[in-house]
Amino acid sequence: MCGIVGYVGKKKASPILINGLLKLEYRGYDSAGIATIENGNIFCIKNKGRVKELQNSKDIDKLNSTIGISHTRWATHGKPSSANAHPHLDCHKNFAVVHNGIIENYIELKNFLINAGYSFSSETDTEVIPNLIDYYYSIDKESGPDKFVNAVHKAILDLKGSYAIAVLSKYEPDTIIVARKDSPLVIGINNDEKFIASDIPAILDYTNNIFILDDGDLVKITQNNLTFYNKNLEKIDKKSKIITWDAKSSDKGNFEHYMLKEIYEQPTAIRETIGTRIVPNKKCDFSDINISKSYLSEISRIYIVACGTAMHAGVCVKPIFEKLTNIPVEVDIASEFRYREPLIDSHTLIICISQSGETADTIAALKNAKANGSKTIAISNVIGSSITREADYTLYTHAGPEIAVASTKAYTSQITLLTLLAIHFAEVLDLPKTEIIDSLKNELLEIPSKANIILENVDAIKDFAKKICKETDIFFIGRGLDYAAAMEASLKLKEISYIHSDSYQSGELKHGPIALIEEDVTVIGIITDRRLLDKSTSNLQEVISRGAKTLIITNQDVDKKAFPYIYNIPKIHPFLSPILSIIPLQLLAYYVAKEKGLDVDKPRNLAKSVTVE
Ligand code: GLU
Repeated sequence: MCGIVGYVGKKKASPILINGLLKLEYRGYDSAGIATIENGNIFCIKNKGRVKELQNSKDIDKLNSTIGISHTRWATHGKPSSANAHPHLDCHKNFAVVHNGIIENYIELKNFLINAGYSFSSETDTEVIPNLIDYYYSIDKESGPDKFVNAVHKAILDLKGSYAIAVLSKYEPDTIIVARKDSPLVIGINNDEKFIASDIPAILDYTNNIFILDDGDLVKITQNNLTFYNKNLEKIDKKSKIITWDAKSSDKGNFEHYMLKEIYEQPTAIRETIGTRIVPNKKCDFSDINISKSYLSEISRIYIVACGTAMHAGVCVKPIFEKLTNIPVEVDIASEFRYREPLIDSHTLIICISQSGETADTIAALKNAKANGSKTIAISNVIGSSITREADYTLYTHAGPEIAVASTKAYTSQITLLTLLAIHFAEVLDLPKTEIIDSLKNELLEIPSKANIILENVDAIKDFAKKICKETDIFFIGRGLDYAAAMEASLKLKEISYIHSDSYQSGELKHGPIALIEEDVTVIGIITDRRLLDKSTSNLQEVISRGAKTLIITNQDVDKKAFPYIYNIPKIHPFLSPILSIIPLQLLAYYVAKEKGLDVDKPRNLAKSVTVE
């Protein structure tokens, strides 16, 4: 889940590496480090903490090399410390490695290496990699130009688990070797400069000409050459892509935090997601996936599989799919789905959602589904990401880069895209749903302007954030799709404010959770469905009777006398309400975290793309 940046070219490497790491810090940020080759030897600086501390470290100015690798870590094995920070060197200091992922058989490899005379100085799984490379290098009696590549290749054949690695060697001081399996890695080129990164934004300042590596790829990189190999170390050809995101779209602009910027980008992101899919007086345009009527008619069940916020997007669209397609839908958490042996076959369709397209559990779930004969659709925001290359069909949200760890615009774009997909399925199936389809299409087009109304009305949210920022427990309740929105609102708040929060279906309160309600506990209710207004307000009355203070997010006629804090959002079709009702609650989470002085964009223990299980 970490960030990897590498450089080989004509310029001093360290400022380019640090600049890239700063852009990638959202992927992991408990420690950071850099390795270059200075006067024929590997020179490494690393520390616990943020990239800024690495940038300010006194030795950084001593690095003059034009080649280097660097890393910002999200610890899986061993606590955050400078010893555990990457790069890791072998005990003879011949090779340096940065690694993203988990080596599952590291204990076995470590024991083997210890028996072979190697010693270790960190608690990480990663440290076996440079030592293994050194081992294979040292036992290779050849001395040809491929000795470094051969040693790396032999070492990775021994690794079980996931990795993206970049390797420096003092034996070939002008070369970096990279390899990947189940963890993303890209190479950017700009004439005689080569850039390596685990995520495209890290190098967009320098180039948009990018090679996206596939699982099993191994690449030898020098200033003037790239040599691509497959997993059998046979040379292969690869084509680069021009990436259309510019560096600016991954900058904070005038906003204090990425999260706030991304919340405000939602009207644009939703417009981009809709793109040209809604065509006046015609069926939705999904010609990019071409799903046939005969195939869809044979589908007996749809599974929507995802993690975290993306899973909540699935919960929001389940009733829409069921209503529009008459096909039952199940929403599954990817880490459970992959191990629970679901009943899937060629009559089940699996829709996997992952903002980054690199979520390890979701990719594994998708692979399982394919192995069981199901067709798969990937919904992702990142062009060329791993999941999009695994799936039978891919749909992009086109929300633009999302940098803040807490997802906002990717989520509302996912709901938008999935709603359009449900409409498309109904149209392909020729179901008599014209009325609801027409009204959903019209209302989808109105969402950006309605979202703007909310974004211009933040004072009440800021005031409420001040009131609740010292709380220790907050409850979110709702019925139907308002409960789906409550789940996401609760997750957003806990992710960035560290306040314990939970979400409940309003009707479930009496079956247990109401025992937790006492004087001054905050309960936030969402009410957007006319049919459920009376039931939902009664549930809120019940918590008020027990001393709770409430905030209600609504577009219904709620009794103003009974409820002191009401935040009104624009009216919208009940199926689309989660796209609007979440926006004030994203803002609430943001302002609570800000009020508490927390690092909104990089909440503790979290990282943006969860590339490990
Ligand atoms: N497993 C490695 C470690 O704990 C890499 C973690 C990462 O991806 O940042 O050091």
